[in-house]
Amino acid sequence: MTLAIIDTHAHLDMPQFDRDRAEVINRAHEAGVVAIVNVGTDLKSSEHAIKLAEVNPGVFAAVGFHPHEVASVSKADIRRLIDMARHKKVVAIGEIGLDYYRSRSPHEIQHKVLEWQLEVAAESNLPVVIHSRQAEADMVDTLKKWTASAKPRDDGIRGVIHCFSGGIETARQYLDMGFHISLGGYIGYPTSRNSHATIRALPLDRLLIETDSPFLPPQSRRGQRNEPSYLPVTVMALAEIKGVSPETVARETAANARRVFHLP
Ligand SMILES: [Zn+2]
Repeated sequence: MTLAIIDTHAHLDMPQFDRDRAEVINRAHEAGVVAIVNVGTDLKSSEHAIKLAEVNPGVFAAVGFHPHEVASVSKADIRRLIDMARHKKVVAIGEIGLDYYRSRSPHEIQHKVLEWQLEVAAESNLPVVIHSRQAEADMVDTLKKWTASAKPRDDGIRGVIHCFSGGIETARQYLDMGFHISLGGYIGYPTSRNSHATIRALPLDRLLIETDSPFLPPQSRRGQRNEPSYLPVTVMALAEIKGVSPETVARETAANARRVFHLP
């Protein structure tokens, strides 16, 4: 039996896939991954994401500047982003956010470029894909201000918190603001056991799954390159934690992904 699932966060434009990108996408489809949202991290990677989406019916693009890549982002770059956002296979602005773990760009600049991109999302009527690492308080604050001022999409969906690993209080604040929560292969790591209670408390109708390929492979593939065909491992892990069937996890998370990103 093959599950029909959606990988809501992958970076197949990265050089780790230069050798075998087409095979990786084929393997994903064989594994039941019916759609992949390929997420950009800067202008070049976002352009590549769009190209991949143009030639692969099951691939969709998100465009944006990752917090690691914002140091030299200009207003002209943001105008380019606005243009890209009009492409019919662009389904989100992302990934965007704050990263205080690596802090590769100064925090003030991370904030400024995040706010610019939140504005682009609101004007383009697109959801956002949020990256937040060791920046939870500032991220909740920034998104509260944004959701209080920017008009929501008709369905009220604001976007996705990618690779969520926070506590239930933080999750509730994101959910209340109209965000979905996305979980990756790390939920099956032995060190993630203490997050299971939080995951059980998250409503299944607001959850997405992702690989974050080439990063964060499932436990059985630690140390290797991750790829979308490994997503069923995360379906199994989430089903076990939630005490529901893998079919239920597959069906619900795919339906949620279609709603968030307006996928066909
Ligand atoms: Zn990512």
